Amino acid sequence: MYIDKKNIKMDFINELTTMYSEDIDEASNLHKYFALAKLVKKYSSQNWMRTNRKYKNTKKKQVYYFSMEFLIGRLLGNNLLNLGIKDTCKEALSELGISLNELEEIENDAGLGNGGLGRLAACFLDSMASLNIPGHGCGIRYYYGLFQQKIINGYQVEIPDHWLRDGNMWETRKEDKAVRIKFGGNVHSIMENNSLKFIHENYEEILAVPYDTPVIGYNTDTVNTLRLWNAETLDDDFDFATFNKGQYSKALEYKNSIESISQVLYPDDSKEEGKLLRLKQQYFLVSAGLQSIVRYYKKINVPINELNKYIAVQINDTHPSMAVAELMRILIDEENMTWDESFKITTNIMSYTNHTILSEALEKWPINMFKKLLPRIYMIIEEINRRFCEEIQNKYPNDTKKLNDMSIIFNGEIKMAHLAIVGSHSVNGVAKLHTELLKNKELKNFNEFYSGKFNNKTNGITHRRWLVKANPRLTEILCKTIGNQWIKNPLELEKFTNYAKDLNIQNKIREVKEKNKIDFCNYAKKIYDIDINPYSIFDVQVKRLHAYKRQLLNAFNILNLYYKLKENPSLDIIPRTFFFGGKAAPGYYLAKQIIKFINTVAVKINNDKDAIHGKLNVIFLPNYSVSLAEKIIPCADVSEQISTATKEASGTGNMKFMMNGSITIATLDGANIEIKEAVGDENIIIFGMNKEEVLSLEENKNYKANNYYYSDSRLMKIINSLVDNSLNVSSSEFKDIYSSLLEKNDEYFVLKDFDSYTKAQDKIDNLYRNKNKWQKMCIMNIGKSGIFSSDNTIKKYAKEIWHV
Ligand SMILES: *Cc1c(COP(=O)(O)O)cnc(C)c1O
Repeated sequence: MYIDKKNIKMDFINELTTMYSEDIDEASNLHKYFALAKLVKKYSSQNWMRTNRKYKNTKKKQVYYFSMEFLIGRLLGNNLLNLGIKDTCKEALSELGISLNELEEIENDAGLGNGGLGRLAACFLDSMASLNIPGHGCGIRYYYGLFQQKIINGYQVEIPDHWLRDGNMWETRKEDKAVRIKFGGNVHSIMENNSLKFIHENYEEILAVPYDTPVIGYNTDTVNTLRLWNAETLDDDFDFATFNKGQYSKALEYKNSIESISQVLYPDDSKEEGKLLRLKQQYFLVSAGLQSIVRYYKKINVPINELNKYIAVQINDTHPSMAVAELMRILIDEENMTWDESFKITTNIMSYTNHTILSEALEKWPINMFKKLLPRIYMIIEEINRRFCEEIQNKYPNDTKKLNDMSIIFNGEIKMAHLAIVGSHSVNGVAKLHTELLKNKELKNFNEFYSGKFNNKTNGITHRRWLVKANPRLTEILCKTIGNQWIKNPLELEKFTNYAKDLNIQNKIREVKEKNKIDFCNYAKKIYDIDINPYSIFDVQVKRLHAYKRQLLNAFNILNLYYKLKENPSLDIIPRTFFFGGKAAPGYYLAKQIIKFINTVAVKINNDKDAIHGKLNVIFLPNYSVSLAEKIIPCADVSEQISTATKEASGTGNMKFMMNGSITIATLDGANIEIKEAVGDENIIIFGMNKEEVLSLEENKNYKANNYYYSDSRLMKIINSLVDNSLNVSSSEFKDIYSSLLEKNDEYFVLKDFDSYTKAQDKIDNLYRNKNKWQKMCIMNIGKSGIFSSDNTIKKYAKEIWHV
């Protein structure tokens, strides 16, 4: 479709008039944003329709990405970019006296995810559409996204994220495509035509209503669909009998209890809650998703016993792993297929992505809770397990240990990862190291049992959002230097490495970063009323707050620098601003204490202007989100990726920074290892224990945190300051942090890696002094970042797992 400035101006004014009966002078920015969003959706609607029609007619295999989280962020800027009309639109609006930037800032982030896992799902949607792969998202339309974080007196305060309050122009409610979900009740069997039939009775039935959002590919006609499900009462079930007896509020209570299923996203990252409502959410998602898929294929006359030729379902972590059992239920109970045939088709369709080996994140459900809520699904899981255990016993007779270790149901619990592995034809890790640990350690028995099922797909990020959209200045330099083919084929960014030693390009890269930093300083002044020195090194750690990510290690190095400066105020260090950002799960007290600690250190240091001569600043950016990430990452000089080796499955923040020309200070963990392989040892700063050292300390149990405390006077001073009033807060304020390190023996080896980390930080200071060398490193990082585009990741999923 050809759209020029004139069209946009006319259409926009039209939209304002029809929607609000307002002209440009009268309309608020909110109304202008809504009018523009509606217009952009209109521009994509023909292609959306055509794409759907094409999929229906050609019956091409389609991929359904099942995920409890889609952290998509704002859509306006991205959609304009992918439609190829961003600049035109900007000019058109500007001629009407409207700033596109301002309108973009009005949009609420769709924060339907916690962190990396949900953001990965969003990047994958963008890549599938841009690569013309028929691939759709299937998730939950949470009424409240991840909470918004305020920092008050240094503490995290959680505010509900009422993102839908003013409406959402991108979604379309499809009430005619609703499906019914059954909870509770009981199951009995009868004989019918010589076969066993299962009858589910006395259940409670609720309605799942889909809301569809277009996923617009870049520079292509493909528009895929993100389908998010909303939980509602069945009209005929809304208890009017009760209502008539005058118990109106009781009837409403019932309605609320149903709607609560899609009310709120659980705010825990890398941790399992084990709550009944969460189990309901998971079944709600997989049942709604699979029922609507099966209904669609029946309608277009696809033989359901060949469904595996037409669809692939990717299970994003174990959260949607009940998809295995739900599809079995549909095929057996509703489509009257045999167990063996159903299981073959199901495993052919399903594939599972593992995201973590942290034990607290592995999902297990108590049998009693599960059975009561999902009696038929439980029966099916039991039968899958019975047959699986038989196979194990055949292969390893009398090996009870193996049997117990691998069984899906054990010790009163259902292990969802085991269900996902048994029910899928592919299990993938998300970075080389992570996959190796899965294959040779955590899931070794499964890897030996199912040879060839395990594979690696290193995570990626969409370079369209994280470079083209987030960093237009860098994009311009890249296009002027190596052309614009890299936007279609990100591997072509490699060409930029030829300019690593080009003084002119080095200079331009430095200018871009400086301008981005100045922009951010102005933004920070306006929004948070804080002053930041744009000429300092921007050292950034933004990600969820978690002990394994070791924000504490970063904070300890900062305190160490501060104490050094106090002792020697003329110490020659390059001025540095340390940025932190990240949310802690509301019930994760240690992580919340770490936030308070960082803010306490910030107050101490930022207010001590005499001692440190503006050389050190610490800033905690509240409410880390996709939109904030897009602002801060393009100004970062240093990217902090300092998790304990083996704990971060991949990381994707690391890739965003690299792509924007930051230098990574990193442990050999997750995808950091692959970044190092790509850029070479001289273009990344590595420190700390590697996987072998961590595993050996963990296995031999011979780590003694106290030894580091007593033998390193710097650590002793820092750790004492947690409890001795020197930071001007109560001595009990940080007692959980203190005890996690000394009494609980520092599970994540902060003390052990401290010395190595401080040396790495000194190295950064030194390198930054040599401008040419530093810029050369930045250019190498940008040029090598193409391999981490999610386009490459998705191509591998498509070829090796989905066969599309
Ligand atoms: C990329 C991203 C993450 C993941 O960051 P990691 O450093 O990989 O943990 C989390 N939150 C947001 C908002 C992101 O954009």
